[in-house]
Amino acid sequence: MLVDSFGRIHDSLRISVTDRCNIRCFYCMPNENIQFLPREELLSFEELTRFAQIALQAGIRKFRLTGGEPLVRRDLPRLVASLRQLPGVEDLALTTNGVLLAEQVEALRAAGLMRLNVSLDSLRREVFEQITRRDELDRVLAGLRRAVEVGFGQIRINAVSIRGLTEADIVPLAEFCRESGHTLRFIEYMPLDADQGWTESLVLTGAKVRARLEEAFGQLEPSARTDPSQPAVDYRFADGIGTVGFINPVSEPFCGDCNRLRITAEGQLRNCLFSTEEFDVRALLRNGASAAEILELLRRCVGAKKAGHGINDPKFIRPQRAMYQIGG
Ligand code: SAM
Ligand code: SF4
Repeated sequence: MLVDSFGRIHDSLRISVTDRCNIRCFYCMPNENIQFLPREELLSFEELTRFAQIALQAGIRKFRLTGGEPLVRRDLPRLVASLRQLPGVEDLALTTNGVLLAEQVEALRAAGLMRLNVSLDSLRREVFEQITRRDELDRVLAGLRRAVEVGFGQIRINAVSIRGLTEADIVPLAEFCRESGHTLRFIEYMPLDADQGWTESLVLTGAKVRARLEEAFGQLEPSARTDPSQPAVDYRFADGIGTVGFINPVSEPFCGDCNRLRITAEGQLRNCLFSTEEFDVRALLRNGASAAEILELLRRCVGAKKAGHGINDPKFIRPQRAMYQIGG
């Protein structure tokens, strides 16, 4: 098992399949002058599958595909199928902005994708466009409808909350999710935007979002926590319809329960979103390294994990990479 020096067992791997994206959320990407990775620097599906196979030997059980926008990587269902057939995979999920979902979700489901998270911060067209710098809300909503049609249940909507911008979206997003049967999670804005515009004053805390929901829907009831490594604290609405969760990395860091590793699209293993150190899996994969050598790198990466991200520490240093270059 992959156990770090604080006793945290790591069984979850987030795989970034690209740094490219078809929208430009201001809290993640710059608007222009972006240097994307050249194609040959990305891990191939074969390389990713080999790495996943080795990670399974080390105790990783849960995989999530992310990016950049994973659906802009050509032929993604082929990777899904290849990962799904590996023995020991307990969860295989995808995080997407939903823009290309309508076209691809049927193939993804057929390939064996188990769960779907769709990021959606606002149902107001102008605010959606202000955040993403693209006018794609209708395609995201069409993608969600199609995902339900092809059989995805328990779709999770992830909404980043921004102070001064998304307060008016809190209640409509909750209503939308309660009506459509999606699970809703609000995420605090973290200092991972390429433009370095993050300030604490822009963080709309989970506590404030929750208070707004309670004004509208009555007291939220905490749900039993089934998986302590889940960063979200989930609540049920008072009338029993739907749940809502809060991922509060800034106001209530949950590093003590972290069970994740991440691999960037070009094969750099990271033990934290905020780490400043990376472990070069791609070099090993491309230099004919044995499984034992790759396992050793995984162990070293986990062994080097710090107790916490330290966002609130005055000595906090932002990672060089922005969110789209890491894989959220
Ligand atoms: N493109 C896909 C998407 O947007 O779902 C997958 C990658 S994206 C980097 C993964 C998640 O990170 C999204 O839910 C996005 O809203 C979130 N995210 C990006 N930048 C963030 C930031 N600075 N703070 C908090 N969440 C952020
Ligand atoms: Fe693209 Fe996701 Fe980043 Fe938005 S958050 S710019 S959709 S990678």
